[in-house]
Amino acid sequence: MATNPSPQRDPANATVLSLDLDDTLWDITPVIIAAERELRAWLKRHCPRVVDRYSPHAALALRQRLVDAHPELAHDLSWLRTRTLEHMLEDCGYATSRAGEAFEVFCAARNRVSLHADVLPALESLHRRYTLVALTNGTADLERVGLARYFDHYVAARDVGAAKPDQRMFAAVEAVTARPAAEILHIGDDPLCDVVGASQAGMHTAWLNRRAEPWPGQHPPPDLHVEDMLALARRLLRAA
Ligand SMILES: [Mg+2]
Repeated sequence: MATNPSPQRDPANATVLSLDLDDTLWDITPVIIAAERELRAWLKRHCPRVVDRYSPHAALALRQRLVDAHPELAHDLSWLRTRTLEHMLEDCGYATSRAGEAFEVFCAARNRVSLHADVLPALESLHRRYTLVALTNGTADLERVGLARYFDHYVAARDVGAAKPDQRMFAAVEAVTARPAAEILHIGDDPLCDVVGASQAGMHTAWLNRRAEPWPGQHPPPDLHVEDMLALARRLLRAA
């Protein structure tokens, strides 16, 4: 794949790697589907009136109404899920305190991810040379997914108060690492949230494109274009 940065824009000059998580290190869609299924099974067992009254479609519609009513909190998926559960429980005559139990069922399943085969060997070599930061719009728990030992910092939309491509997310990476954007390479699967967002922040960018999709032409291209994490590690460590 094409990798032709100018020398001053060479991503190998970075000292910090900022990594997206969902759909970069694992596929998230099957994980969320399984987590939703487990949550529903738990509700059916412990709070059956919720399942009787709220179809999956109705629960989604409720969640969307909450987003519409609280756009300032739409980036906070944990709040959104918990509030949706509280609303459904209350509506069906259950204690809202059970939302915490239900949400934990979802979280446990949400963190049972299947890492892509290239992830561990790549992180193993990259974390020896670079400061690694997880930068996510999602809610993955690095301890639970078994990757905490590779990462120096964790920055989530929930803590920042905004989601990528909002520039506050990238500023948070500069803040926690105390490094300027010019020393940071952000890697992610999403052309807009990851590549365009990081590029606007002045960071080096790598598009991790596992499905060999064409780059959306309306955006300036990334500095690096790689098919998986091992390709990224080879490119960076060879150049370093
Ligand atoms: Mg992603």
